[in-house]
Amino acid sequence: MKDIQDIDALVREAEAKLASRFAHIDRVSEKRTADIMQVFRDEKVSAGMFAPTDGYGYDDRGRDTLDRIYARVLGAEAAFVRHSIASGTHALTIGLFGLLRPGDVLLAATGKPYDTLDEVIGLQGEAGRGSLADFGVEYVQVELGADGGVDIPAVIRACQAYGDRIKVVFFQRSKGYLDRRTLSVDELGCAFAAIRPHTAAFFVVDNCYGEFVEDKEPTAVGADLIIGSLIKNPGGGMAESGGYIAGTARAVELCGYRLTAVGVGLEIGATLGNTKSMYKGLFYAPHTVKEALKTAHLAAYLFEAAGFVTEPRWDQPRADIIQAVQCASPELLIAFCRGIQAGSPVDAFLTCEPWDMPGYSDPVIMAAGTFTQGSSLELSADGPIRAPYTAFFQGGLTYESGKIGVISALRAVLEAQKSAH
Ligand SMILES: *Cc1c(COP(=O)(O)O)cnc(C)c1O
Repeated sequence: MKDIQDIDALVREAEAKLASRFAHIDRVSEKRTADIMQVFRDEKVSAGMFAPTDGYGYDDRGRDTLDRIYARVLGAEAAFVRHSIASGTHALTIGLFGLLRPGDVLLAATGKPYDTLDEVIGLQGEAGRGSLADFGVEYVQVELGADGGVDIPAVIRACQAYGDRIKVVFFQRSKGYLDRRTLSVDELGCAFAAIRPHTAAFFVVDNCYGEFVEDKEPTAVGADLIIGSLIKNPGGGMAESGGYIAGTARAVELCGYRLTAVGVGLEIGATLGNTKSMYKGLFYAPHTVKEALKTAHLAAYLFEAAGFVTEPRWDQPRADIIQAVQCASPELLIAFCRGIQAGSPVDAFLTCEPWDMPGYSDPVIMAAGTFTQGSSLELSADGPIRAPYTAFFQGGLTYESGKIGVISALRAVLEAQKSAH
């Protein structure tokens, strides 16, 4: 741990050194915003589309148009986005159950998927509750390679070993809560191209935290399905809940049957007044993601200056909005999260504690002083209480407020460090 005398001076130094990174981030946001506005114009978005529908929700023009907009903006043939998808895990569950049938194999190509999928797949928890394993779906996992990328030869070997039984090859773009790096869209595209000749399976990407960080999404480079949460990037900090699925027409159709009922699919689903915030969220998404990215770079710079190990490093390009900071002890991880909480616009007076969160195998500490519960495009930090006590930090609706939160976390950690000596 290094001694930091003047945090304001350090922040000024960071911003000067980050100027060219920030300029790149601005350009990506401008491009993605221009794409979105072009699609809004083409689809003739108008205020009438924001009107709530009720009951079955037949002929909801705003909903159907937003589905087409999502498809085009994400570089996919088809998509659906619904406020009624309760979380990212729910969206991923719809995707997996939509595509997999008894006897099929789910091949995880990027190591262990996100913690909350353990029970969905059937790796954790009691049998008989309706996991994929209960339905006779077999699970095979290939670890990431030594360089942190997809171990393409190992995935191809698995494809050859299980043949046509492999129905889904699953990729997680973001690091999630793991000590791994995030995969860029181009890197995923190279893996898809190399693996495609060896399997006809659907390539499914957990795209959480990746949307609008780069100039395109995995659907543009060969993914059959990408899946994410609206209280992360694509909700722009505006959507109050929801999730999306985008991809090939066939894969999206199958997921639509799982979302509602076979045969009915995407024809129904009342929007109950949630449509406007989903449009507005998509409109804001590239901008809000930009603010979060700048906040993450600043955090990396400050914590590296204080002697912490970070991933990615302060000057590295990003493929998601997550910034990992290794706190090296439970006390510093807890201090980090409390500092983030204290630097939040909502519930800043609360003190966060580790707890056994449903779906996670270790106690988790979470800081989330957010307008929308659990929204992690808003300034937030989470960390499982396990070595190396990494704080996974993300979000910041505005860079100005994100900076305040990061500085608050740095002060809290420096204080905790001092009192430990
Ligand atoms: C957040 C996240 C999920 C699950 O989303 P929830 O909304 O928390 O259920 C899945 N995968 C990754 C990589 C995530 O970051």
